[in-house]
Amino acid sequence: MTRQELNPLPEFIQHRLSMWDTLKAKYLEDLEAKLKDSIEVTLPDGKVVPGTSWQTTPYDIAVGISKGLADNCVISKVNDVLWDLDRPLEQNCKLQLLKFDDPEAQAVFWHSSAHVLGEAMERIYGGHLCYGPPIENGFYYDMFIDGDGISTNDYSVMESLVKQIVKEKQPFERLEMKKEDLLKMFEYNEFKRRILNEKVTTDTTTVYRCGPLIDLCRGPHVRNTGKIKAMKVTKNSSTYWEGNSEAETLQRVYGISFPDPKQLKEWEKIQEEAAKRDHRKLGREQELFFFHELSPGSCFFQPRGAHIYNTLVNFIRSEYRKRGFQEVISPNMYNAKLWQVSGHWQHYADNMFSFD
Ligand SMILES: [Zn+2]
Repeated sequence: MTRQELNPLPEFIQHRLSMWDTLKAKYLEDLEAKLKDSIEVTLPDGKVVPGTSWQTTPYDIAVGISKGLADNCVISKVNDVLWDLDRPLEQNCKLQLLKFDDPEAQAVFWHSSAHVLGEAMERIYGGHLCYGPPIENGFYYDMFIDGDGISTNDYSVMESLVKQIVKEKQPFERLEMKKEDLLKMFEYNEFKRRILNEKVTTDTTTVYRCGPLIDLCRGPHVRNTGKIKAMKVTKNSSTYWEGNSEAETLQRVYGISFPDPKQLKEWEKIQEEAAKRDHRKLGREQELFFFHELSPGSCFFQPRGAHIYNTLVNFIRSEYRKRGFQEVISPNMYNAKLWQVSGHWQHYADNMFSFD
């Protein structure tokens, strides 16, 4: 079966939007009523730019410098805290403008991309979104889906809906909400309710909206979905809620994205080259080592591999001595308490070798 966008969309989408409309109108009213004062915004080069509290945004300041700069910015930092480009400044502050080459901006960009992917997943599978964080190279979103899982045949369906969402340049809008309202907004989603009940200790927290998706999220985000010019679904897998094998099975979809399609092409090329140089492939071809199903995570070294291994160990040992370090030997077995403290025991005890 080829998947496509659900018609009609799940009812919870309208439920969230109705609550949003009321609360957002209230927020805008409150913002209007805030006392507007002159403020000073200090840029990294020491230059001071005038602004108005609860009105001037980092984007306004960036446009004042250059429109090109403003549109190349991914996110800003206000007094060292990441801050949406369209979120009004509240008082005198330091302002930094970050582009995609900054690692923090990259994480924001990929987090926003996860929301776009999440929006597409809701519209195609109608399931319940769980966590959707940025990771070292890209992002993922986990979803609880009743029924069939996700197949690689669905990637193109997700990617073309993502393209449509990007074309629509849906703004990322932030709204601070009371916990009781959030529990109402996410009453359909057991997982978001768990996060609210177990992780949120403050009276209020924020949601972010792009198009029909409203997500419980601390943010911040890029200005709109149109910033994500190139996105690719890279893989999917099944996983457990919070990694706990006793909990629900979730579907995870991974993706990568960039502000410029050329960067995606470049990334794809690097992936191909890396696959050719994958040590797991080369090691087998050169008869250095092999993996066996009885030890999938740790290889068997063949004679040539053992020679390289020992040469490296000898080299490292000689370096220790030269640099004034001494060798120690730590135990191979520990009391289970160590793993209880580290948290491994709670998650992996079934897969660990243990005895009384
Ligand atoms: Zn988020």
